[in-house]
Amino acid sequence: MSFTNLQDHEILAWLREEDGARVRELWQAADAVRAEVVGPQVHLRGLIEISNYCCRECAYCGLRAPARDVARYRMTADEILAAARQAVSFGYGTVVMQAGEDYGITREALAGTIRRIKAETPLAVTLSMGERPEEDLAAWREAGADRYLLRFETSDAELYRRIHPTPPGRAHRDRIAVLPVLRKLGYEVGSGVMIGTPGQTVASLARDIALFRALDLDMIGEGPFIAHPDTPLGGGAPRTAPEGEQVPDSARMTCSVLALTRLVCPEANIPSTTALATVDPIAGHEQGLRCGANVVMPNLTPGRYRALYSIYPDKEGIHDDPQVFHERLLARLHALGREPGAGPGNRIRRTAAG
Ligand code: SAH
Repeated sequence: MSFTNLQDHEILAWLREEDGARVRELWQAADAVRAEVVGPQVHLRGLIEISNYCCRECAYCGLRAPARDVARYRMTADEILAAARQAVSFGYGTVVMQAGEDYGITREALAGTIRRIKAETPLAVTLSMGERPEEDLAAWREAGADRYLLRFETSDAELYRRIHPTPPGRAHRDRIAVLPVLRKLGYEVGSGVMIGTPGQTVASLARDIALFRALDLDMIGEGPFIAHPDTPLGGGAPRTAPEGEQVPDSARMTCSVLALTRLVCPEANIPSTTALATVDPIAGHEQGLRCGANVVMPNLTPGRYRALYSIYPDKEGIHDDPQVFHERLLARLHALGREPGAGPGNRIRRTAAG
């Protein structure tokens, strides 16, 4: 099996590979492509979780609307600006504002916050606000937002419907359909999937990876599914795929998916996610960075809100002070022979000859 121009059946074969030495070859091939195409820079994106209100009922997420025990918060513009200034002080080139799908964050309010960040800092701005109407997405782009993240979670239509019930009064979700809208508006477009969601088959995950290539994504976020006990997929016995077909929610599978993603989308910005560091806190972010990833998203959410953004339990680094996390991360990057990226860290595009 070669590592270039991977065909769909080869992606599937790599996902099924059980030989540890072969799996390590895959990871090393992806690391080599990462080094050649995007280099040693690791782009650091300051993550600000600006609200944990949500109107959706995603079956995996601890912030889903029916989760009555979650104390809800919404950051003020001044709090967000303070976190953005902290990102600047650490030398980060981007802030990512993420939230539940919260219509208490109005189109105008967020546009105002984006304008302030763009006027008062040199930061690139990424948004991850769920499936907002096109008018909101357009206004935020107009206000200066550069990028938008919306994971499609799975390309298996049946599983997708099962884990994304449509709440009354909300439009049916089709996250894949939103991606061309984001592209048309001029955003850099990010998507991705969870790995090991109950019911996710290896064959469907192979199709997800092939779809990343077809969509020509600029950013691809992937992390292991982590069961949240207060959700339909967390408590009791969730419906899994047949023996041998269910994707494991392991760090090892996540690393192979990161590697395959780098091989099929060599130019993409690919984070080593907090979810990966959560399932393997010892190896932490490093293992993702050695299997194709080139981005880390340090959490800059103020300490008093951090634990309330509980999409899954026991999030890695939840109690870390941003300064402490930052210094440890720089030391780890140095030990890996990598360096923090400078500037906004947009998706690079190789010339046609590349
Ligand atoms: N409301 C935004 C942000 C959601 S949180 C949106 O809908 O895009 C960002 C990502 O966290 C989700 O896209 C999902 O892939 C991941 N996530 C949510 N719950 C999770 C869980 N229990 N385990 C692992 N990842 C989870």
